[in-house]
Amino acid sequence: MCAWCEGKENVYTRIADLESHVKKVHREVTISKDQFTRANGFYFAKYPEDYAKVVDNINPYDSKAAYEARKAMRSWSDTFSDKQARGDQWTAGWRKGLEILRGMAKKRESRERSVSRDKRTVVEKSARTERQVEREDSSSVARHKLESSS
Ligand SMILES: [Zn+2]
Repeated sequence: MCAWCEGKENVYTRIADLESHVKKVHREVTISKDQFTRANGFYFAKYPEDYAKVVDNINPYDSKAAYEARKAMRSWSDTFSDKQARGDQWTAGWRKGLEILRGMAKKRESRERSVSRDKRTVVEKSARTERQVEREDSSSVARHKLESSS
């Protein structure tokens, strides 16, 4: 979905179509070229969980491209009246998608079981990512509380 079409859901089925739309319509937006890859499209997906099931790779949660995409999507969902629900929906979708990603990593691990050092790295990395998701979660909740009380 286009994160720069304020107040509406502009859905594209291919990441390349989204990229050409953004370049044509939102010229004021500065976007690094690694934003519109299939792996990063996960963070722009209307249903991240489903997206995770059809691609074989997702950019890591702590990568710069992923961070920028989430930031754009959060500002975009703030342009809707049901922004709280939308924000929550994406956080949940991203989390589920990352669980699927972890499942894929596990499958890869069992194929490469002989390399045990790699396995540890994968596990440590996904645990770190999960903690980060939770941190961002609570900070976004706090922000929403502030907004609704003012
Ligand atoms: Zn747009």
